Amino acid sequence: MSKRIFRATWMVALAVFVSVLALSMGLMYQYTGKVLSARLKAETDLAAHGVERGGLDFVQDLELADYRITWIDSEGNVLYDSQSDTQGMENHLERQEVRDAMGKGIGESSRYSTTMTTKLLYCARRLEDGSVVRLSISHYTTVRLFLNLLQPLLMVALGVLAVSFLVARRIAAKIVNPLNNMELENLQENEDYREIRPLINRINAQQTQLRKDQVELEKTEQIRREFTANVSHELKSPLHTISGYAELIKDGLAREEDVSTFAEKIYSETYRMTHLVEDIIELTRLDEGEENMEKTETDLNQIAENAVEALMPFAKENGVSLELQGETCPMQGVPHLIYGIIYNLCDNAVKYNTRGGWVNITVSCPGGVPTLIVSDNGIGIPEEHQDRIFERFYRVDKSHSKAVGGTGLGLSIVKHSAMIHEANISLHSVPGEGTEITVTFPAL
Ligand code: ADP
Repeated sequence: MSKRIFRATWMVALAVFVSVLALSMGLMYQYTGKVLSARLKAETDLAAHGVERGGLDFVQDLELADYRITWIDSEGNVLYDSQSDTQGMENHLERQEVRDAMGKGIGESSRYSTTMTTKLLYCARRLEDGSVVRLSISHYTTVRLFLNLLQPLLMVALGVLAVSFLVARRIAAKIVNPLNNMELENLQENEDYREIRPLINRINAQQTQLRKDQVELEKTEQIRREFTANVSHELKSPLHTISGYAELIKDGLAREEDVSTFAEKIYSETYRMTHLVEDIIELTRLDEGEENMEKTETDLNQIAENAVEALMPFAKENGVSLELQGETCPMQGVPHLIYGIIYNLCDNAVKYNTRGGWVNITVSCPGGVPTLIVSDNGIGIPEEHQDRIFERFYRVDKSHSKAVGGTGLGLSIVKHSAMIHEANISLHSVPGEGTEITVTFPAL
């Protein structure tokens, strides 16, 4: 940028110099022309006077510096010329100034030399005997004037260029330096930058956005780190159990009658681990917002029916009744994520329940708002845990969760899937009485 400012400033200086030069040359040319014409006229008058009195002797004796004097008789024949031999000279009657002088007493004209570098000014005056005295002087054209003045002009030009170079450099530095030294903090208060306020406002807005993004990024990074640590931890304990029992069997240290119990333990730990890995994969998918997230028109009740059907054997196994009351409820969503929401909520309602307990699922569509309610009369969630159960790996009672095959990820999957649907989750739970979780999706 400083280069551009510098170049522009320098160009302006150069343009100004050239225009001033051209203008002054023009004016100078005009002025000298006027002065020369006046002088020529006066000198012609004097010469005419002299010739009238002294005739040829007078002209021959005349000391002429820049002037050329020609004496022409009334027929146009040249009687005398201060620069050429009269013999070879053509008749001068056709010359404008001579013709005018013969007619009006005085004549003036000007002609360019063949090289165009000089202009000749003529002035002629008629004498009493009808002959004409003519004086001429050369006037430099602008080109000639310029060539004559070339040396001093070049020196001035060099000076101007040097000065404008320095000035341009200073101006460029003056504009660019404050920008380079700009403290990005406290920009708003600094009065030095009044002229670039829109730019500052933009920088400020971007800075705020960047800070927000940074905080967001750090938060995500923190969650990711914690998640990885938790995952390793969660996987370690079943692996320990599995390898412990397997080792006993391998080394022949397990009694015959214990082998099947140990195998059962290995099996259930493997099952839990598989379940855990599945949940982790699902959560990672949700985190990364992978493909398969396309929303389509679907029916909340239909999906609830499928989830309930899949969970029925598990509920029976636990002696818990599972019942769905629903009506058709069309909505826009990702079917497999909605299935995950219902499945996990119902799975929890069965898991954290007691034999003989119940789980009720209601699907309704009041005012077109798809609403899912999963309520149970299970163990409930103490108030102080209610805010945190949607966090990854958060469990109210870790050993209880493990005992019932929990991974600690079910509700985070629910929360994440709900977020993708811009759905709202509300929880109402009383320890010892039961839990009710309501999910409301945006209306179609
Ligand atoms: P988990 O795999 O341990 O069930 P979740 O994320 O699904 O993990 O649930 C987190 C915790 O919330 C559970 O460990 C449990 O303590 C509590 N919880 C979830 N649903 C219920 C419920 N319906 N009744 C009682 N407690 C629940």
